[in-house]
Amino acid sequence: MSGTAQEFKELYGYPPEGVWAAPGRVNLIGEHTDYNDGFALPFALPQRTEAAAARRTDGMLRLHSADTPSGVVTLDPAELDPARPPKGSDGWAAYPAGVLWALREAGLPVGGADLHVRSEVPAGAGLSSSAALEVATALALADLHGIPLTRPELAALARRAENAYVGVPCGVMDQMASACATDGHALHLDTRSLRQAHIPFDCAAAGLRLLVIDTRVKHDLADGAYAERRASCHGAAAALGLPALRDLPYRELEQALARLADPVARSRVRHVVTENERVVRVEALLRAGRLRETGPLLTEGHRSLRDDYAVSCAELDLAVATANAAGAYGARMTGGGFGGSALALIDAEAEPVVTRAVTEAFARAGHAPPRITVAAPSAGAARIL
Ligand code: ADP
Ligand code: MG
Repeated sequence: MSGTAQEFKELYGYPPEGVWAAPGRVNLIGEHTDYNDGFALPFALPQRTEAAAARRTDGMLRLHSADTPSGVVTLDPAELDPARPPKGSDGWAAYPAGVLWALREAGLPVGGADLHVRSEVPAGAGLSSSAALEVATALALADLHGIPLTRPELAALARRAENAYVGVPCGVMDQMASACATDGHALHLDTRSLRQAHIPFDCAAAGLRLLVIDTRVKHDLADGAYAERRASCHGAAAALGLPALRDLPYRELEQALARLADPVARSRVRHVVTENERVVRVEALLRAGRLRETGPLLTEGHRSLRDDYAVSCAELDLAVATANAAGAYGARMTGGGFGGSALALIDAEAEPVVTRAVTEAFARAGHAPPRITVAAPSAGAARIL
């Protein structure tokens, strides 16, 4: 029995019916594009959230996480109300409860369950522990109750849980990456059509490593800024007479910018349109097996997020600049910004040098030590027991 199954048994006094796992994700390129109907190119991390679960006959939902001190949270599915999600130390339970709520809202016959989760994905590090928790829960509940859902459908329901029940206005990229990614591939995602393609991305075979540098900071600005960027993008698209910024082709960018009076709106539009173009270019390089050449596009993406989109921070900028100075092919912040993690593409042999350089630079700047790990593109969600 897996550790998570054993813990379930000790907690609830009987064994689970199964264990499901869903990974965190890193976005290779395509940041702040998913609420502009644009493109993204995430991949799944080896770190996963496991959910051990079993059906209950009384219809109740019991939730427990090894990663929080809240104890077992008991909820009545019939009374789940997005206006009153669990709060305080039980706040984490809104994610799995929201998944059950979203499944019921979609008219799916999901009953009660006992759930115990344990995660290797650090929470709040920009690596999408929230999507990992949602997708593991969604897969567990769907499997347990025999509900046939495609992976994109599952991801869409998980996202609805986070948007409508937890109250976080995230795009669909995180859930799609966790639900749909495959081992050794990046997931090319069209966030309008939800069409996806699996792009070979075998770094190890090319002698490369992807370093994930978790700055371990999260600045308070993040939530308000996210809403402001969304509104700014939607406003600019409306001003340009477009359904979304996705509909502004890269080659028409300069003309369009000339039609926007507000310099801030111009910067935001420039980021989104150039970022979509970078996704296209990175994808083409991956398909051609020219992995190293993606590096400069990653760094260009970072500059765009820092200067045009203004969502970086000192720690992320330092991680990127130091990794690049220590020999990375390229580096960028990944995730929403204002903290969280940066990604660096390096030669395998350069790992100790880059790791040391970033760690020392953080110490010199008086920042807390970053947490640096190697990320290999890994498999998406699956039943593991
Ligand atoms: P990220 O998704 O980047 O890790 P979020 O703020 O979106 O950051 O989600 C983090 C939140 O998700 C946590 O604060 C917690 O409420 C919830 N969460 C994620 N994983 C777990 C877990 N294993 N156990 C309990 N709560 C979790
Ligand atoms: Mg999240």
